[in-house]
Amino acid sequence: MENKNFEFLITGGGIAGLMMAFHLRKAGKRFLVIDNKNEKTSSKVAAGMFNPISGKRMSVNWKAEELLSQLHQDFQEMENLLGVNFFVNANILQAFGNVKESNDFMARLDFPAFKQYVDADSTVTSAIKNEFGLFEVLGSGWVKTAEWINAFQDFLSNEGRFLHEQFSWNEMIPTGKNWHWKNYEFENIICCEGYQYDQNPYFNWLPFKLCKGQVLLIDCKGLNEKYILKRGVYLVHQYDSIYKVGASYEWDFEDAAPTAIGKETLIEKVKQMIDLPFEVIDHLAGIRPTTRDRAAILGQHPAISNLYIFNGLGTKGMLQAPFLAAHLSKHILNAMPLHKEISLQRFHQFYTSGH
Ligand SMILES: Cc1cc2nc3c(=O)[nH]c(=O)nc-3n(C[C@H](O)[C@H](O)[C@H](O)COP(=O)(O)OP(=O)(O)OC[C@H]3O[C@@H](n4cnc5c(N)ncnc54)[C@H](O)[C@@H]3O)c2cc1C
Repeated sequence: MENKNFEFLITGGGIAGLMMAFHLRKAGKRFLVIDNKNEKTSSKVAAGMFNPISGKRMSVNWKAEELLSQLHQDFQEMENLLGVNFFVNANILQAFGNVKESNDFMARLDFPAFKQYVDADSTVTSAIKNEFGLFEVLGSGWVKTAEWINAFQDFLSNEGRFLHEQFSWNEMIPTGKNWHWKNYEFENIICCEGYQYDQNPYFNWLPFKLCKGQVLLIDCKGLNEKYILKRGVYLVHQYDSIYKVGASYEWDFEDAAPTAIGKETLIEKVKQMIDLPFEVIDHLAGIRPTTRDRAAILGQHPAISNLYIFNGLGTKGMLQAPFLAAHLSKHILNAMPLHKEISLQRFHQFYTSGH
């Protein structure tokens, strides 16, 4: 593409940036995604699972039905566009770790919103240890995230909409109306930089609370499992006898590198889940862009009208990104108001002018 003028620049090509690109493309907008193709990002190491039930309290995710619906729709379209399958429907078999967990689950069944997503009487046979019982989470699955990211980045690159480059904000010049960078001119910028938000002088004041995660790839020849298994950690079938195991949640950490203790902890948890020999073949880590109130951050900069953020996807990037990208796209293009739970406006008190 010869034209160096774009309506939008998207900084960052992880789950957030690419879903944003997908929706701007559908809206017929001219945009450019810049990404450094780092192989160790949160988006690339993630298991890509989507699960309408969250956390130890087993609560139903905010807007679960709408999130799942947009996720299915977008990935069906994405698969048609790219001619590759990335989307895997796979229920989660979740085993209780103790009697309390089982009792808490039984109490949750009184809530229809919760009950619709679980099968408490699952009769599936599995290798997962389940001396306290188990249940099935319905409507869950996973996306082959790294494959999808690479394929969609290549697709956009062929369309002249993707640039493989390390972007520096020092080189970005606001010209009043537009943004000027190298030989490019952008009318708007949408910042999707994940945990590296702190390198962005316009949004580094936001109250992120980052969370490192580690995963293993294991080879477990005796396990023939197409369900996602969960007991403390999850185990997701990748291909042949290879499974992804994860993840850790580390709120205090020094850097993004995998650690020996992280590996040992995950190995122990696999042993608590299955009674089969396995071999660790890879060990990866990433940093989740988690926020103080655990909700995503979307919207327009408090003082600059052609600057936006789409970040804070936290532990649930895959479930949330399609719906939120569609939502932000309608907000920017059609002035549709943002839901207050995810709007940047809730953090305006942290902003001081000059950023
Ligand atoms: C171990 C682990 C397991 C996870 N498992 C799941 C899961 O099963 N399901 C789920 O939904 N979520 C999961 N997550 C969370 C999920 O990965 C995140 O919510 C999501 O990836 C965040 O996406 P993002 O695009 O905001 O950020 P990122 O993935 O960090 O992407 C940002 C991109 O911007 C690029 N970038 C940033 N700054 C620059 C710059 N200056 N120049 C060029 N490029 C730049 C980065 O290199 C990167 O490619 C997991 C996370 C981890 C760490």
